Amino acid sequence: MAFLSNINIAQKIRRMILLISGVALLIVSVSHMAMEVFSYREALVERVSVLADFISTNSTAALSFDDPKTAQKLLLSLKSQADVNGAILYHDNWQMFAAYPQDSGIQARIENEDKVWFSELGQSKSIEYRFAGDDLDLLKPVTLDGEVIGHLLIEASLDPLYDQIVDYLLISGLLLAGMMLGVYLLSYSLQRRISGPINNLVNGMEDVADQKNFSLRLQPGDNDEIGTLIERFNSMLGQIEERDKKLSSYREGLEQKVAERTASLQESKEAAEAASRAKSEFLATMSHEIRTPMNGVLGMTELLLDTGLDVRAHRLADSAHRSAESLLGVINDILDFSKIEADKLQLSKEDFDLRTLLEDTLELVANQAHRKGLELIPNLPPDLPRWVRGDAVRLRQILVNLLGNAVKFTKRGEVRLWVRTIERHVNSLQIAFEVSDTGPGIPISQQGEIFNAFSQADSSTTRRFGGTGLGLAIASRLVDLMGGVIELESSPGEGAHFSFKIELEAAIEERSQAPNHDILQGVRVLIVDDHVTNREILHNQVIAWGMRNGSVDSGQQALERLRQAADGGDPYQIVLLDWHMPEMDGFELARAIRNDSSIPAPHLVMLSSTEFDAESSVAQTCGIARHLQKPVRQQQLLLCLREVMGEQVAVAAGASPATEKLNGKILLAEDNLVNQEVAISMLMALGCKMDLAGNGLEAVEAASRNTYDLILMDCHMPEMDGFSATSQIRLIEQEKGQEPVTIVALTADVQKGIQDQCEAAGMNDYLSKPFSQKRLSELLKKWLKVEVTEQAETGETPLSGKVSDSHVLDPAPLEQLRQLGEMSGRDVLGKSVNHFLKQAPDDVARLRQALEDNDAEILRGIVHSLKSSSANLGARFFPRHCQQLETRQPKEFATCAQFGG
Ligand code: ADP
Repeated sequence: MAFLSNINIAQKIRRMILLISGVALLIVSVSHMAMEVFSYREALVERVSVLADFISTNSTAALSFDDPKTAQKLLLSLKSQADVNGAILYHDNWQMFAAYPQDSGIQARIENEDKVWFSELGQSKSIEYRFAGDDLDLLKPVTLDGEVIGHLLIEASLDPLYDQIVDYLLISGLLLAGMMLGVYLLSYSLQRRISGPINNLVNGMEDVADQKNFSLRLQPGDNDEIGTLIERFNSMLGQIEERDKKLSSYREGLEQKVAERTASLQESKEAAEAASRAKSEFLATMSHEIRTPMNGVLGMTELLLDTGLDVRAHRLADSAHRSAESLLGVINDILDFSKIEADKLQLSKEDFDLRTLLEDTLELVANQAHRKGLELIPNLPPDLPRWVRGDAVRLRQILVNLLGNAVKFTKRGEVRLWVRTIERHVNSLQIAFEVSDTGPGIPISQQGEIFNAFSQADSSTTRRFGGTGLGLAIASRLVDLMGGVIELESSPGEGAHFSFKIELEAAIEERSQAPNHDILQGVRVLIVDDHVTNREILHNQVIAWGMRNGSVDSGQQALERLRQAADGGDPYQIVLLDWHMPEMDGFELARAIRNDSSIPAPHLVMLSSTEFDAESSVAQTCGIARHLQKPVRQQQLLLCLREVMGEQVAVAAGASPATEKLNGKILLAEDNLVNQEVAISMLMALGCKMDLAGNGLEAVEAASRNTYDLILMDCHMPEMDGFSATSQIRLIEQEKGQEPVTIVALTADVQKGIQDQCEAAGMNDYLSKPFSQKRLSELLKKWLKVEVTEQAETGETPLSGKVSDSHVLDPAPLEQLRQLGEMSGRDVLGKSVNHFLKQAPDDVARLRQALEDNDAEILRGIVHSLKSSSANLGARFFPRHCQQLETRQPKEFATCAQFGG
């Protein structure tokens, strides 16, 4: 029905009427013509039969008397019949007797065509006929007295019939065309009765759809389906119009209500903003008010501790200092959390050295971990990106919290930090951090709560370990701010595993490339450690520097491996050995290596988790070239290895204590007397010259009269605050055409925006109070020229232990300590002596007890440490006594019972 698709309804109706009428007319014409043909043929047969009757009746005599002429004449009478082609009269034996016309060609054709037919008919006595091709053949038997004496065949043409059919077709074609035209015209006017109302309906619907004109109504139609459709459409429009009216009045009401609500919400919002501002201001004030006195307490106790106090006073001051530090920690936590909650915490962005940050962080918790006998295992792959951009302070805060908790809650086993790069793009990196421990773990029921503020997994931990329950909440919010999520996996008794991923930007500045490790290329190094992860980490580090390495987990294996390598003509040049190993410890192994003549002496580098001072002299006798304390910084290990391989390495940060003197004249603007005292002492210790201003006005005056390299400007001062003073100084500089002096803000206010405020006032940097001497020195180093005086010592623990034979006390080590004190301005000698005096009586008491109990192990431990600490203070004979005692057999102890008296 393709001819009916994609056309409008009027065309469809017209085409359908035309089709139906056309088909009807065609059927009528065809059937009429068929009837015409049929009746024509019947009439022809009848007419020819009559002719045949007449001729056969009259030809009996001619046949009986064998008179062909008469018969010929008789046949000639057929001439008057235009449609008779010819006739033949046969004898009863089918011999031709007479023919019309006399043309022999026709006779032969008729005879040939009809022979078969004749044979089929046999001696039939009735009239037979057939239509063959364009002709009618009719055969009539000639009978006399009931006997067949011959046959008459007449052939008549059907051509007149065909002529008649052609005429008929022409006439009926013309008639059909005329009728179809009539039908078309009629259908055109009729279909309008149907398609007209439908078109109206369609147009109306389009109007409503396009213009949303629901007030439109269509003319009612006839009383038929289309009429019903129009009526329903009109009533639907009516309903919509009604609903719209209701809706618009409802909307108006609603708008009015919304306007009223908005006004009241606006009021509430303004009130809330005012409250939030008040909260922030309160936080700022609180922060300032708490940090300012804390600055005094911390700074003063720090200085007090360096003034050579007696043992008791030192302990009290030390305890006060630690209490102040932990109080500051709690205050910082609360302030941080309030800031995060108030949405006031903004992350800063700066380039930082990721590896150094991680190593610094590990160092912060290393002491505590080692004191508890925990293995601190950092896994910082060598391919970790070095310089990145982000908030280093906050990242460190998160890691310190996680590592601090891990160390705090784990009794035995290990704490691991694993940092790895997940994705590296041109401008950013995704880094994963994982901290895991072998502690008690966190019950599953409490894992959901653990990142909420003030929640602790087990309230008894609070009593045992202290803590505010804010650490993880802050860490999780900070990770959140950095675009990551902190996750916890833990089952009770199996430790805790915290992990998070954050995106860090690539550092803006291009930094120097990693140093060339040529000297280490191909050097053979043997790693001896019973801890598999430690071996793996060291392995990764040394292969990154092109070294060839072997790893073993015990002293025995190490000896075997060293011997094999020597036999094979490729001996190990360096051995990295762990101090604390079961069966054979690092010292025993070192001695065994030294005493084995088949092993060409390698450089021995000892790694240990504990302080090494006391072991220096023993280490020397074992041939240990260097000692490094775990966690080992990659850079430190690199420098150490390069040094033992004989390279003159420039002293790198952290590898050697160097005395730094800061050149520069400083103006300190500070009103608080305690803070003045703290800052002055610190600046003096750092070797700076300085002037003092008690408020902003004095600062402006001093700055306009003198030239300073740097001004430390307190922000909140009477008369004129630090911001106004800075603006004035900048104005004066402009008027005089002077180079702007570096101004660093001192502020106890750590609220969001303070940095911007400082910048807006023309300050170059800021230092938040309370600050340590280290932070002050770092800041000054950034802005001032630094004069560095190198010490003779290296980063590793000194392995020198000179003993003079002439006095009870060797003056050389004491003098060395005194000089160090002078250089730093701190009482290093006093501090060390105080430590010794504080510890020695306890040690001696424990020693007596061990002698009484005959406990060789404890005794050896005590004399071991007394030996080295007294040697460091220049004692000459005491270390020797200790040494003797350490090597005696338990049964000999009784004779020493008087020791220590
Ligand atoms: P707190 O200052 O009390 O340590 P945190 O928010 O850092 O506060 O930790 C909340 C609690 O989560 C802790 O009190 C402790 O119960 C539990 N917790 C955190 N880390 C660990 C860990 N590594 N192992 C076991 N428990 C932990």
